[in-house]
Amino acid sequence: MSSAISQSKNQLYQELRATVKKHHPDADLELLDLAYDFADKAHEGQLRASGEPYITHPLHAAIILAKMKLNLPIIIAALLHDVPEDTSKTLNEIKKDFGSDIASMVWGITKLGTIKYRGMERYTENLRKMFIAMASDIRVVFIKFADRLHNLSTLEYLPPKKRYRIALETLEIYAPIANRLGMGEIKGQLEDLAFKYVYPKEYEWTISQIRASYDKKTAVLEHAAKQAEKFLHEAGIKDFFIHSRRKHIYSLYKKLLEKDSDAGKIYDLIAIRVIVKDLADCYAALGIVHKYWKPLKGRIKDYIAQPKPNGYRSLHTTVFEDDGDIIEVQIRTQEMHDSNEYGIAAHWRYDEAGKKAVFGKEISWMQELAKIQKEFENKKQFLEGLDSLKIDVFQNHIFVFTPKGDVIDLPEDATPVDFAYAIHSDIGDQCAGAVINEQIASLDTPLKNGDVVHIIINKDRKSPSADWLKFIKTRSARQKIKAKLNAKSTGLINRLLHKT
Ligand code: MN
Repeated sequence: MSSAISQSKNQLYQELRATVKKHHPDADLELLDLAYDFADKAHEGQLRASGEPYITHPLHAAIILAKMKLNLPIIIAALLHDVPEDTSKTLNEIKKDFGSDIASMVWGITKLGTIKYRGMERYTENLRKMFIAMASDIRVVFIKFADRLHNLSTLEYLPPKKRYRIALETLEIYAPIANRLGMGEIKGQLEDLAFKYVYPKEYEWTISQIRASYDKKTAVLEHAAKQAEKFLHEAGIKDFFIHSRRKHIYSLYKKLLEKDSDAGKIYDLIAIRVIVKDLADCYAALGIVHKYWKPLKGRIKDYIAQPKPNGYRSLHTTVFEDDGDIIEVQIRTQEMHDSNEYGIAAHWRYDEAGKKAVFGKEISWMQELAKIQKEFENKKQFLEGLDSLKIDVFQNHIFVFTPKGDVIDLPEDATPVDFAYAIHSDIGDQCAGAVINEQIASLDTPLKNGDVVHIIINKDRKSPSADWLKFIKTRSARQKIKAKLNAKSTGLINRLLHKT
């Protein structure tokens, strides 16, 4: 048994190592070995709900990221992502062995894990804010997606209630964010894995709708792909390859709802994908396809000249194949393909230097998040009226966490005292000290996005300090402190008057 286990985890590790080496021949594989060893020892003896050794989970997550061609620090952070939360090894040890950059990614993931579930509405709100708080390091979001993808694939081992909650939060939060970041493949996988747990009947229905057409289509596609290969060769197109792709089940379900449940009307159930070497070949290949197969009217789409809002680029055409079957053909370059599948992650990985020089893409990611934030705020506005206007501009706001995982909105440069009053007046009044990200800090320290703050209270303390008024940033803390100080001085005067 134990040798079978170590064989399976070692196989996974070899797969990871080979994938990293393939995409990054110069990567420091010895460091990867060290990280694997570190994580494996830390998780030693721990099991997943599936009964597998725990280490298989970070290994699977790291493999997902390695296949996205992401670079070594991200892969290592993924291997270590559950270490501080679930083992006796600390973040400081990770920092000592692997440096502060990797440690800061692991810290980001650990923070996401501290969000606790207390009713869906509040929880999703917290989770959204948390994702936005993570904007400072998008790599943390990539790792979180990989973590979630693997957790979803082993969801069957969890109790039904937890299963449902994780799947629902995937559909409501993770997938839309992946979509916004142009990570089409990740979005599709997240949705497909969550679908059957959130809407089991609809899932079964969708499968039953398409089963027959799938089998028929698969045969047609195989034939068509061979034909297409021949046409392109004869026309002198070089360095291309063809594969077929099945539509993701969840997006198919949504499309079936639009098309009166007729799977026969969905032409891209399975499509042929042609990957060519450059832009000119995209249009050349389209011409060749149309020379042999008659295109359907109004179905030629040039998403290269006019990309979709999420950045998707490809040529699409729907044609009548030799035997009269209708098929969709998608044509793009490898770079477009990577970008369509992995969005911002595909752009990100070309930057080997690290997170600093992420060219213009970093800016658009920030803009995307600002948009998401706006959307959520607009939704809130519907529900809560003018209340949401309190949250004005995203840039001037920070999100700070309680140790239990609640997220508190504060203005930029707010202090632990503002934070304490935002939680509760009593906590503000009795505030005696603060621990920020596990470090003792003074009460006037400006807080940063994503900080985890623990307020030390002194129950004997009955009133706030007038000195706090010099540095606090929120109006509500100011009002509460003043009210308390006024009450205190009035009480003192009353007592003095009483005595005389
Ligand atoms: Mn995990």
